[in-house]
Amino acid sequence: MNFDLSEEHQMVRDIVRRFAMEELSPVAARMDEEDYFPIDIFRKLGELGMLGITVPTEYGGSGLDYISQMICLEEISRISPAFALSVGAHSNLCLDNLFRNGSREQRELYAPKLSSGEWVGCLALTEPESGSDALSMRTTAELRDKHYSLNGSKTFITNAPVADMALVYAKTEPSLGHRGISAFIVEGSNPGFRKGRKFDKMGMRGSPTGELFFDSCNVPSSALVGKKNEGAGIVMSGLSVERAVLAGISLGIQEQCLDLAVDYSRQRKQFGLPISKFELIQEKIANMYVGIEASRLLIYKSLQVLQKDKSKNREAAAAIMFAAETSTKTALDAIQIMGGYGYMKEFRVEKLMRDAKLLEIGAGTTEIRKMIIARELLEDSA
Ligand SMILES: Cc1cc2nc3c(=O)[nH]c(=O)nc-3n(C[C@H](O)[C@H](O)[C@H](O)COP(=O)(O)OP(=O)(O)OC[C@H]3O[C@@H](n4cnc5c(N)ncnc54)[C@H](O)[C@@H]3O)c2cc1C
Repeated sequence: MNFDLSEEHQMVRDIVRRFAMEELSPVAARMDEEDYFPIDIFRKLGELGMLGITVPTEYGGSGLDYISQMICLEEISRISPAFALSVGAHSNLCLDNLFRNGSREQRELYAPKLSSGEWVGCLALTEPESGSDALSMRTTAELRDKHYSLNGSKTFITNAPVADMALVYAKTEPSLGHRGISAFIVEGSNPGFRKGRKFDKMGMRGSPTGELFFDSCNVPSSALVGKKNEGAGIVMSGLSVERAVLAGISLGIQEQCLDLAVDYSRQRKQFGLPISKFELIQEKIANMYVGIEASRLLIYKSLQVLQKDKSKNREAAAAIMFAAETSTKTALDAIQIMGGYGYMKEFRVEKLMRDAKLLEIGAGTTEIRKMIIARELLEDSA
């Protein structure tokens, strides 16, 4: 067992840390205040090779692994969790998923554009009536001659308001239930494809979230990703990778909270002493550190497992469940350490609390993660 980062992973950490400090720090507050998505900075990350991080170099990517992708999100999240969420939705949920399951033609057509950031991508699974029970989706795709006609809608989709294309799941054989789902690439220019409203969120502001509508939306039959009616497998394997990689956002939030809390507690004096001298403050700081280390170990373990076998679900569910719950608690503790100042927007920790909460909901809720873990354990021991 080796707990040191490889040279490659260290390189990713250094590159993204510098990028986040130089490019994102100046706009992070504006992103939250104005719900502003900085597309120019997003494209700069593409120029650094970090959008197509898991895509092979011959397709315009960097050919790195999921640990690199997680580190990228962790480092971005130390400055802007919202930007990390949009990068994760684009580069993992959409691009990595499309690359793993797409045909050679689809890879050649989309991977370079998405890797550079010329195009923004999103993944559309959730619908107004199907969230946790995602496979009960109502959107349909009917084969008509050489086209599929899509009808339905998707909601809560990260990047939808700015997306040039979407990886969309729809029922191609509704009578088969979960076994009748397929994945499609829908481009912004496809007739019948429409973007709905952009949501006003409590946190992760600056990462645009919105609706998508398909009204007899025609896509060529070549837009089918993978095999017809095999979409459920793509959904499930994609979700585990997504969980393990996005858990890096919760890790970055915890690290940012610890940094802010330590700095503040050293400077703030009460009763003639820096508050860092008080044991009840030290207890919170010690717990923050343990949360970070434990989250990191769970995340690395789950990524290693998935790198070998994408059908494994419980490790990723455990990693994001723990990291997400811990990051919300850590953000609340950071507010507590800062007292009244922590409650004020200018001290940044209240924003981190709002951002942290999303990871207990998106990519499958805490409750669903617990169900996955328990189900696998009970099946294994049956
Ligand atoms: C900011 C944001 C970004 C998102 N980005 C995307 C995206 O890019 N693409 C995408 O497809 N989706 C996205 N989502 C959707 C997200 O994955 C869903 O919100 C999530 O899966 C939960 O679905 P729901 O909101 O419909 O809640 P519901 O499924 O209605 O759940 C409501 C509550 O019931 C609980 N619950 C449900 N079933 C059970 C059960 N069997 N046992 C116990 N409790 C249960 C849930 O845990 C939750 O607490 C995003 C959501 C948000 C908020």
